[in-house]
Amino acid sequence: MTVTRFAPSPNGPLHLGHAFSAIVAHDRAARDGGEFLLRIEDIDGVRSRDELADEFRADLAWLDLEYRDVTPQSQRIERYRSAADDLLAMGLLYPCTCTRAEVASAAVAVGPDGPLYPGTCLRRGPTPGLDVAWRLDMEQAVDLAGPLEWTDERRGAQRATPAMFGDVVLWRKDAPASYHLAATLDDAADGVTCVTRGIDLFRATHVHRLLQHLLGLPVPVWHHHAVLVEADGRKLAKRRDAPALADRRRAGEDGRSVAAELRAALFDTGISLSDIINQQT
Ligand code: GLU
Repeated sequence: MTVTRFAPSPNGPLHLGHAFSAIVAHDRAARDGGEFLLRIEDIDGVRSRDELADEFRADLAWLDLEYRDVTPQSQRIERYRSAADDLLAMGLLYPCTCTRAEVASAAVAVGPDGPLYPGTCLRRGPTPGLDVAWRLDMEQAVDLAGPLEWTDERRGAQRATPAMFGDVVLWRKDAPASYHLAATLDDAADGVTCVTRGIDLFRATHVHRLLQHLLGLPVPVWHHHAVLVEADGRKLAKRRDAPALADRRRAGEDGRSVAAELRAALFDTGISLSDIINQQT
């Protein structure tokens, strides 16, 4: 059975781009008579707002998307900790006390998520008692894993190239697990067989594939879909005040029509959803 998911972070209201993402995931599961899950990714303690999760549920219902609610990330911290412990026991994590500013000023290259960590703390050795982040020793992890592949439904077989991310942080005190660790563990725990998400997260999948291998997790397929963009070509974003679905819902707009428009907008262009997805990089 195909299981897909929509995994929003409650740090701002959902907008049309999220609606599109949820529709793609929902319809992908429905096509196979599968199941569509909602997972609230609320481990960013500073920015997460509890009340938004209920708004998200109401938004999905308004769009007429049937879903099953699974455990939010804030209730899964122990699982993340135990996976981090496993990686530590494998000698693949090391503590890092660098601030973001220190990383930025010492970095000599930039990766998909920003400045690549220059390995300062890898050479420094243990720093007991300090508030630290734990980084993956990428070189060792990649050596241990050997060549890995993964499959995107639209783009075919991919060779995993996680090294482009450098020594990613997997665990830290303030926002316990990183997105990479938490999402990878959750997709496995939730039985997700087809990870649907925006093409903007395509490269993150390289890291997730590596983590799956290291942690002995099942390997799903991925479906990276197009992201809606504004007229200037930039991705719709909460921080740029894309209109909230909740506002449209409260204003009495018909959510089914909004969903139908999103589906039809793709249809109207005369190219199929899969064509559009294929065009994305
Ligand atoms: N929580 C992420 C977001 O809101 C989505 C992560 C994912 O789909 O893997 O952007």
